[in-house]
Amino acid sequence: MLYIGSHVGFNKNTQRLGSLEEALKYKANCFMFYTGAPQNTTRCEIEDGLTLEALSKMKELGMDYSKVVVHAPYIINLCNENNFDFSTNFLTGEVERVNKLGVKYMVLHPGSHVGLGEEIGLNNIIKGLNIVLNNVKDHNNVTILLETMAGKGSELGKTTEELKYIIDNIEDKSHIGVCLDTCHLNDAGYDLTKFDEYLDNFDKLIGIEKIGCIHINDSKNEINAHKDRHENIGFGTIGFNTLINVIYNERLGEIPRILETPYVDKEYPPYKYEIEMIREKKFDNNLIEKIKKQ
Ligand code: ZN
Ligand code: FE
Ligand code: FE
Repeated sequence: MLYIGSHVGFNKNTQRLGSLEEALKYKANCFMFYTGAPQNTTRCEIEDGLTLEALSKMKELGMDYSKVVVHAPYIINLCNENNFDFSTNFLTGEVERVNKLGVKYMVLHPGSHVGLGEEIGLNNIIKGLNIVLNNVKDHNNVTILLETMAGKGSELGKTTEELKYIIDNIEDKSHIGVCLDTCHLNDAGYDLTKFDEYLDNFDKLIGIEKIGCIHINDSKNEINAHKDRHENIGFGTIGFNTLINVIYNERLGEIPRILETPYVDKEYPPYKYEIEMIREKKFDNNLIEKIKKQ
């Protein structure tokens, strides 16, 4: 079965239940949310009542709980030695919240070395992840998925080799995996028209079974641009057919495919329309106009 959904909102009054309801509006069968604003670390208490209501609604609808994903805030940077205790404490709390929400996967940007150099940066990421996973080890059901990055600025995790180096040095390997992102892969220099070659290399270095999620985005920039600007499906440099081939690649199995494409005119969510187009495997040139009229 194809699991396709999008990034959705999360607010403290409705929590996972509100996120689920938004996903249902898009006719999605999986979704991803931040447990608060992605650009800050202010977080609310998780209310078990709302989680239970969401879980029973999912059960009623025959939805698979394990296809829900949380994204950690992107300002957390494990490379940075100055805020190291803050970052590891925050991430420990985030893993606890994700456990409490009954969510299996948490996507994390590995980090940016901000001038420290790649080796020190990678080693700090490893050190931080080992601390976090050790803090929660006796009750943890969450797998941290390191996202493949575009290589913007000093971002790490832009190559399969860097991700392999991190994962090889994680003590608790059963709770670490990878989240692919098509825009980031393109911007990092991987040619998605040769996605099977990418997967061959990934399988050799890390193992395909470590891929827990894939973010589906077109890109505003050419391959190898190291930019990370997402575009609506079929309207960027990757293109509709290449994205369809990635989405339907059977080697990815039933992992969630999550759209993080931009709102049209910063106002209209495109997800219902993009999901429909992906399910029909047919590109609609008038999609943007259609979305504006919703
Ligand atoms: Zn991300
Ligand atoms: Fe992403
Ligand atoms: Fe991105």
